Amino acid sequence: MRLTFHGGAKEVTGANYLLELGDTKILVDCGMMQGSNYAERQNFEPFPYDPKTVSAVFVTHAHIDHTGRLPKLVKDGFRGEVFSTPPTREFAEHLLEDSVDILSREAKKHNREPFCRPETLGVLKGLWKGVKYGEEITVGPFKIIFHNAGHILGSSFIEIKAPSTNSGQETKIIFSGDLGNMPSPLIKPVEYIDNADYCLIESTYGGRLHERVDKLRDDLEDIVENTVKAGGTLMIPAFAMERTQALLYHLDSLMGEGRIPRVPVFLDSPLAIRLTGVYQQFGDYFNKETREFLKKDKSLFDFPSLKRTLRTEDSKKISRVPPPKIIIAGSGMSQGGRIIHHEKEYLPDPKSIILFVGYQVKGSLGRRIIDGEKMVKILREDVPVRAKPVTIHGYSAHADQRQLLDWLSPMRQGLKKVFVVQGEEDQSTPLARKIEDELAVSAEIPSLGETVILQ
Ligand code: ZN
Repeated sequence: MRLTFHGGAKEVTGANYLLELGDTKILVDCGMMQGSNYAERQNFEPFPYDPKTVSAVFVTHAHIDHTGRLPKLVKDGFRGEVFSTPPTREFAEHLLEDSVDILSREAKKHNREPFCRPETLGVLKGLWKGVKYGEEITVGPFKIIFHNAGHILGSSFIEIKAPSTNSGQETKIIFSGDLGNMPSPLIKPVEYIDNADYCLIESTYGGRLHERVDKLRDDLEDIVENTVKAGGTLMIPAFAMERTQALLYHLDSLMGEGRIPRVPVFLDSPLAIRLTGVYQQFGDYFNKETREFLKKDKSLFDFPSLKRTLRTEDSKKISRVPPPKIIIAGSGMSQGGRIIHHEKEYLPDPKSIILFVGYQVKGSLGRRIIDGEKMVKILREDVPVRAKPVTIHGYSAHADQRQLLDWLSPMRQGLKKVFVVQGEEDQSTPLARKIEDELAVSAEIPSLGETVILQ
């Protein structure tokens, strides 16, 4: 069995792994590469394999860095099957629509060949099948099972078995996808596997330890209280999935318990509004605590002071509502989206707070504000930063170093090698070292395009 790393090697994004045995080729993930630009040039380049010869793609979860190049794969001739859990398929439909839109504009701007054709997303949808956790699928010599990764709703790590060349035995390989930060505010915790021959493990936060997740709601309470006391605006640049819903859930429960006043909350992101609707269809995937809450409060992501502003006109009216108020809007790193309009308005206000709940890449506006820049450029205007920047790391949906090691630990006896992927080198290197020292398993950080033979 041959495994080639066509993405996610020495970088967080662009996950794309090719497995070959005999004439059968399958892929795990087909993600977009993202850097300080939303879409890097490499996403438009031809695949290093012929998409027509690929039988199937297995998608770990809906995030664009795991799905974003699927439309291009279809445009370039792929007509096999795509498998994921049903929520991943639903979320991906919305997220891909959004990203294809951005990529198409990007292609026009730089005079590139279109990223895909208008009919491509429809074709992709027709090839895409939903499978449950634990169900076994067969494609050629491969047997595939999805397991809950606890990262975002419907997220999976994938177990693949194939016959070994030299005996009647099977070789088992695990693709971690992205693993969740536990306990998740909303979804069930990650599953564990107790034996495997090989494992690819993500390392977004392979070198760091998170703050305690159970403090999250208390931290959020303090920040809202401070904003209300000062009479300012709380801006939260948020990613449309999981973090936004976790924030809404926490605001709903804090207001319900009377721990914070019922100030107006604006969910100012059409994509987040649509994705929140998908969450409501998949209540079975929620953890016990969230399902208990749902018994008392039928609407997990809705409360009296929440306003969803779908239309641009409504978004513009938010500035007329007097503070204190809370605005949740994308994009998560302030690289565009509606949040930048609110930042232009309220960053100069010393009574306001800007709360970061996710990773801010170097060069992004979010990162510059965190790093303490006193003057930033927004929509070609100089904007002074007098609002206070605050960060809560715990809303991250990624496991930290300890959690990654704990997840690997039950399978360490049989592991021949671990491939550390989906991380920048300052995160993957410390994780690889820990895997070798603590678990006594050989660990390697593969390079882009590298092929290994698994037996
Ligand atoms: Zn992810």
